[in-house]
Amino acid sequence: MACDVMGVRLYLRQVRVLAVAVDTPNELVVEVESTVRRPRCPHCGFCGARVHDTRRRKIRDLEVSGRAVTLVWHRRRFGCGNCGERFLEDHCGFEGRMTRRLARRLVADATVVTVAAAARRHKLSCPCGGGAGAHLVRAGGRAPQKPPVSGAFGR
Ligand SMILES: [Zn+2]
Repeated sequence: MACDVMGVRLYLRQVRVLAVAVDTPNELVVEVESTVRRPRCPHCGFCGARVHDTRRRKIRDLEVSGRAVTLVWHRRRFGCGNCGERFLEDHCGFEGRMTRRLARRLVADATVVTVAAAARRHKLSCPCGGGAGAHLVRAGGRAPQKPPVSGAFGR
């Protein structure tokens, strides 16, 4: 084992780390799952849903030591034991395909630099499209200067 190895917390609530999938000088990819046991059915409010299957969703997070951080969220899909509907779980720390703290940082950065520069700073691919730009608009930041182009992160 290398001599510069240490354990580091993500400081994300209700998240359990399953594995570190990629750990390179440029990128960190961490597989996670929610620690919320059983969410309430959004259709009927029943609390006894069972896990139907699990899907993986990439969530961008704040960079660590200059490395882009991606969480691979093992997102559960539930089947309601009462009404039979299926639904995907949500997570209080994630908003779309990024963590809320990254969205907040983007908004804060966009108050002092352009949206494009803020997105570049956080290694997001398309500052003008529906990815970072849409988050900034929803969160009250500066609106994008140009219409959407293409290839927004996370599509
Ligand atoms: Zn239900």
